[in-house]
Amino acid sequence: MLNYKIADLPKNPENTQKLYGYCGKIARINLTTKEVSTLSTDQYVPKYVGGRMLIHRIFWDEVAPGTGAFDEGNKFIYMNGPTTGTGIPAGGRSAACAIGPSVLPGQFTFGNIGGWFATELKYAGYDGFIIEGKSKEHVYIKIEDDKIEILPADDLWGMRVHQTQKALEDKYGHAFKSMVIGPAGENLVRIASITTSNDCAFAKGGFGAVWGSKGLKAVTVHGTGMVAPADLEKLKYLRLNMNHPSMRPSPILHLDQLGVPGGEFEVKYDRGNVACSPGCNQRCNALLMNGPSAFEDEPVNHIEKWFWK
Ligand code: SF4
Repeated sequence: MLNYKIADLPKNPENTQKLYGYCGKIARINLTTKEVSTLSTDQYVPKYVGGRMLIHRIFWDEVAPGTGAFDEGNKFIYMNGPTTGTGIPAGGRSAACAIGPSVLPGQFTFGNIGGWFATELKYAGYDGFIIEGKSKEHVYIKIEDDKIEILPADDLWGMRVHQTQKALEDKYGHAFKSMVIGPAGENLVRIASITTSNDCAFAKGGFGAVWGSKGLKAVTVHGTGMVAPADLEKLKYLRLNMNHPSMRPSPILHLDQLGVPGGEFEVKYDRGNVACSPGCNQRCNALLMNGPSAFEDEPVNHIEKWFWK
């Protein structure tokens, strides 16, 4: 069942979903059995609110002590929060956890990530997913609204992250947003990351290697629903007011206030302020475009964070 449409909201918001800000379901995707099922978000919310609290609770419930990073029992638990997809500034990020291999022995690790993926997953009707088991074949996961498929990834395996993003976009179109791994993750490099289409990364813990150990190359998602806030008018009002410079968190200094530091980047390359995720007015990322790259076919769009200066 799809999440609701924004046009339905003023008519009957109560009927759209029980938990405002949430879709109400979490996907469980087992790569060993290839089974897909759902669990209800309200078994955790509102006792546990936000992506980070949910991943911790689910991890505590489901991953046994002593599990190794590359064991079949390790799970990659990914969760949105109630602000994801609502347009609330700084609300588009999401969180994940697993036993990470970057330290020996592997230990519980969590991280958070920007990008369009989280919002698209909400629009598809999921608050998050649990990826468990291991696939013998190389696979990727495709989520389109409530349909979840586990598909062969032999044609993607071996590609770098930007190549993989492009291949998925060529196949399914720009509306699909993906998280992918590159050769480092495939080869179980213990610091390998998972990246989004705008180069946000789960860059700590070695989550890319966890995906590689599960035979998982990518997750791509597109949804046509929306997220129900409890009071749409109040949300619009708050958002408009938060656009005012005086409402910006004071420690975040912006390029338009600072000028652009950075030696040759300052002179040679196009740059601008961008938000890491949809709807955020803080734009704390500096995007430096078409910089030098180790790969001839792949100019670097270099993103830096310019806060806490
Ligand atoms: S652009 Fe900056 S403030 Fe906005 S969500 Fe991303 S990291 Fe947070």
